Amino acid sequence: MKTEKLPHIVIVGAGFGGLETAQRLAHAPVQITLIDRHNYHLFQPLLYQIAIAGLVPSQIAYPLRTIFRRQKNLTFQMGEVTSIDFNARYVRTNGSVIAYDYLVLAVGGQTNFFGLNTVEENGFQLKSIESATSTRNHLLRMFERASREVDPEQRKALLTFVVVGGGPTGVETAGALAELITHVMTKDYPEMDLRESRVLLLEATGNVMAAYPDELRKSTMDLLQSKNVQILLNTRLTDYNGQRITLADGRHIDSYTLIWTAGVRAAEITDRLGVQQATAGRVRVDPTLQLPQHPEVFVIGDAAYFENGEGQPLPMLATVAQQQAKSAARNIRKILRGENPEPFQYKDPGLLATIGRNAAVARIWGLSFSGFIAWLIWVVLHIYRLIGFRNRLVVLINWAWDYFFYDNQVRLITRE
Ligand SMILES: Cc1cc2nc3c(=O)[nH]c(=O)nc-3n(C[C@H](O)[C@H](O)[C@H](O)COP(=O)(O)OP(=O)(O)OC[C@H]3O[C@@H](n4cnc5c(N)ncnc54)[C@H](O)[C@@H]3O)c2cc1C
Repeated sequence: MKTEKLPHIVIVGAGFGGLETAQRLAHAPVQITLIDRHNYHLFQPLLYQIAIAGLVPSQIAYPLRTIFRRQKNLTFQMGEVTSIDFNARYVRTNGSVIAYDYLVLAVGGQTNFFGLNTVEENGFQLKSIESATSTRNHLLRMFERASREVDPEQRKALLTFVVVGGGPTGVETAGALAELITHVMTKDYPEMDLRESRVLLLEATGNVMAAYPDELRKSTMDLLQSKNVQILLNTRLTDYNGQRITLADGRHIDSYTLIWTAGVRAAEITDRLGVQQATAGRVRVDPTLQLPQHPEVFVIGDAAYFENGEGQPLPMLATVAQQQAKSAARNIRKILRGENPEPFQYKDPGLLATIGRNAAVARIWGLSFSGFIAWLIWVVLHIYRLIGFRNRLVVLINWAWDYFFYDNQVRLITRE
């Protein structure tokens, strides 16, 4: 009996976009190869919880082979894609060459330091399990060092924690860090007066949460200040040597900790593809998310540059990546049936960011919420969106414990 060869779909990247595309094609008459440099899917929105010792990595990352155990038309390959030949239609990884009929590029983004090399070298970032864990180790080490430091100036620098970037990640990190100090570290270090410690949030523009409506920006500022976060607006950083931050106006801040959350750009591989790139290195795509001149290639998520109706690029958000994944999968099915692909349309589900215990801001169904209600929505949504029942349960228990006992449980300094 002659078996018909199924079209081969290669998906690069198993983040929010790649995962959703693969799942949406589960019952399509195709053979899928999913490639990622990691063997797990990472829930990046909770990376800051690793950094502030609230969760362990296995609670926000899930093995890909387990996720796809039952999906018969999919093979997973762990590997780093190093180049793509769009004419010959194959991708090259560090170990293999894989031909495709259709390619979905969902390679995501990476931290953008905007050429500030000293910040990249000496600062911390939240983009991977490794970077979040090393941030946690460093933060905890600062308290240990401060506890035996006799020089008050040195101690002040050790206990000054600077978060750069007033977007949701910076706000969430600053709020959670301030609470870690107030509720947990004060108990662990009774010998220190932790009123000496400071959490500073630096923002280059005149606003935090630029994408949020005015009333929620104001609520964010109020909530952060109530948690003792000092917000420095219109403050641009120019240099950081690991101990001292230099600001554009010549002022200095002495600090051993700088967490950079001020920029994201498309993943590095996009620079090597010879395709047209827009702001932040994102790849320009057609309204159907296809690559111009290569309709068999779809680019989605953080890596794709796609403008909304007002000519603004869609933000780098998981919700955008997931909606684009659905659209790409639907369009691949359509093309396979001989139909025309449809343009992508983003449906904005709203905005949501937490600022610590009992505090969040949300914009949903055109309504603004802040405080406890927004925080409850945040908790429910984030637990619901985690992959795996065990992860949901363990994270829920962890958070409940922290909530009732004011105790971040993962205060371990591990070797890197
Ligand atoms: C700290 C933080 C907090 C965030 N908070 C929120 C939030 O609250 N809400 C929200 O909506 N969004 C949030 N985001 C953004 C959200 O995580 C991204 O928009 C989303 O992950 C984009 O999905 P993606 O599929 O495009 O890329 P990703 O999810 O980043 O996945 C890309 C995948 O591609 C793989 N990859 C990259 N290059 C290669 C290569 N060359 N070879 C092989 N594999 C490769 C990577 O390993 C990764 O698994 C946050 C991001 C961060 C970093």
